[in-house]
Amino acid sequence: MKSDITHNIGIILERIRKASEASGRDPKDVRLLLATKTVAADRIKEAFHAGQTLIAENKVQELRDKFEALKDVRHTSHFIGHLQTNKINDVLKYGVSCIQSVDRVDLAEKLHKRLSYENRTIEVLIQVNTSNEESKFGVHPDQAIELVRQVAQFKTLKIKGLMTIGLFKGQPHELRACFSLLRKLRDQISDLAIPGVEMDELSMGMSGDLEMAVEEGATIVRVGTAIFGQRVTPDSYYWNEQ
Ligand SMILES: *Cc1c(COP(=O)(O)O)cnc(C)c1O
Repeated sequence: MKSDITHNIGIILERIRKASEASGRDPKDVRLLLATKTVAADRIKEAFHAGQTLIAENKVQELRDKFEALKDVRHTSHFIGHLQTNKINDVLKYGVSCIQSVDRVDLAEKLHKRLSYENRTIEVLIQVNTSNEESKFGVHPDQAIELVRQVAQFKTLKIKGLMTIGLFKGQPHELRACFSLLRKLRDQISDLAIPGVEMDELSMGMSGDLEMAVEEGATIVRVGTAIFGQRVTPDSYYWNEQ
């Protein structure tokens, strides 16, 4: 019998395929990222066995705790949580290839310092607060271009695109506006052709709203609940912490 996780992944892939086709896109251009916060390593491994390879954590602590258990299965790991500057050395220890949550210049500067010291580079996305909620992280849309220019100065940080969480309590049209704002920003930044800046990735859409995100151009959708089930810890613990 198929496990619930394998079954759920099938449903999500089907949702991605339908939304892609409905908007004239190739489903291959949309990557599924598994948001694995609170999910135990053995359950993440089930997802690997079902063919998934891209996961992301929100907390350095969880990244560290699961690192050993997951490292014998080949996969790619991103970081999608609010990153405090005092956790930089740690986040770089556990094989993360992309930090999707770069939202301020002091964080970028400190990452660059550490990466220079270690003589390596990392991919980053710029996180934009498209819904203007006080409580959420991400650069204000009006400041996003300036931040991209600043981060581009740090040669160890390879900018690949933008990320947003989007409104989590609101009307569907408001949510769509968040996603389309991120896409417009991406297009604007692309047009500027800032040296060293690539704008291929749009990381947006989650369990409840991935269709809309795909329609608006998402290249990475981040799904947790719809694959692993409800979490006990509320999202506010991950999204509104200070
Ligand atoms: C938890 C999380 C997700 C996935 O949310 P679900 O609603 O569980 O699919 C996506 N992005 C970020 C940044 C998250 O923290």
